[in-house]
Amino acid sequence: MLEEILNDGFTQLGLNVGPEAVQKLRIYKDTLEETNKVMNLTAIEGDDNIARLHFLDCAALLTCADFHQKKVIDVGTGAGFPGLVLKTVCPDLNLTLVDSLDKRVNFLKSTCEKLSLTDVECLHLRAEEAPKGMRGSYDIATARAVAGLNVLSELCLPFVRKGGLFIAMKGPDCQAEVDAAGKAIAALGGRTEKIVRYTIPGTDIVHSAVIIKKVSGTPPMYPRRWAQIKKSPL
Ligand code: SAM
Repeated sequence: MLEEILNDGFTQLGLNVGPEAVQKLRIYKDTLEETNKVMNLTAIEGDDNIARLHFLDCAALLTCADFHQKKVIDVGTGAGFPGLVLKTVCPDLNLTLVDSLDKRVNFLKSTCEKLSLTDVECLHLRAEEAPKGMRGSYDIATARAVAGLNVLSELCLPFVRKGGLFIAMKGPDCQAEVDAAGKAIAALGGRTEKIVRYTIPGTDIVHSAVIIKKVSGTPPMYPRRWAQIKKSPL
């Protein structure tokens, strides 16, 4: 049962999560599955898989950095992963969800209302076309399954304030990808701090959180337009 898997999983992760958050995740899961019948939101289905491969996977980020009272932006969030899970489990963070697909953003808006979440902004936006006011104004940027780390860094690091973090969720063997993105990360004002590997509770799946610190301002020429990013990735 979803509730049991979540409660066991949170305990294994060392997270203290109350019944209200678990109840909200139940509503989130039901809404996700219902909407998924008419809109392509996720290939992962069923209580067990959604609990583990979406909810616990995303919640594991809370063990990698301090999200409390932080201003967080989730880039290419899709159906809300990891951002909406982080907000549900850690309600005192201020969240901006960004996705380039309008219908997914509409799903996010109605789900946030259903879950009575406050301090959440859902934006239909391409990350590289974000207004200047969003630049350097977030404590943490997150992303899962959006692009290779070099490209992803150009989409995400400009949002992060100096001293803040960009956390990219990756598979177990991401060292080569991290090494290959080293130049891009440096050019964008970042420095890779560490790779935290975690096992998703109730599975033997190992994932990685690549923790990149913003150590200097991103040069104004970045991010470039999408055509340029695609043509000559950093
Ligand atoms: N992060 C979610 C997850 O882990 O389930 C969604 C992953 S999905 C494979 C990638 C998402 O990124 C899509 O919803 C897509 O619309 C969005 N996306 C791709 N490029 C983007 C961009 N440049 N700016 C904003 N969103 C983008």
